[in-house]
Amino acid sequence: MASVYTADNMDNVLPEKAKCARCGYPAKQRCSGCKMEWYCRRQCQVQQWPKHKKVCSQMSAVTDTA
Ligand SMILES: [Zn+2]
Ligand SMILES: [Zn+2]
Repeated sequence: MASVYTADNMDNVLPEKAKCARCGYPAKQRCSGCKMEWYCRRQCQVQQWPKHKKVCSQMSAVTDTA
């Protein structure tokens, strides 16, 4: 039963809970660069990219996928 609390404490970003970084709508696709940002549609990703690209490069640099 304690697993419910731990799961809530964990900051897991599940796809079904992900929200668009631009408009806040339920997101279906994520940034292919950092795989951290979510967007509801490609248009949102494109419009958000000028702001996100700096963060994206930093996050993708930190994300060290073996
Ligand atoms: Zn959106
Ligand atoms: Zn990104």
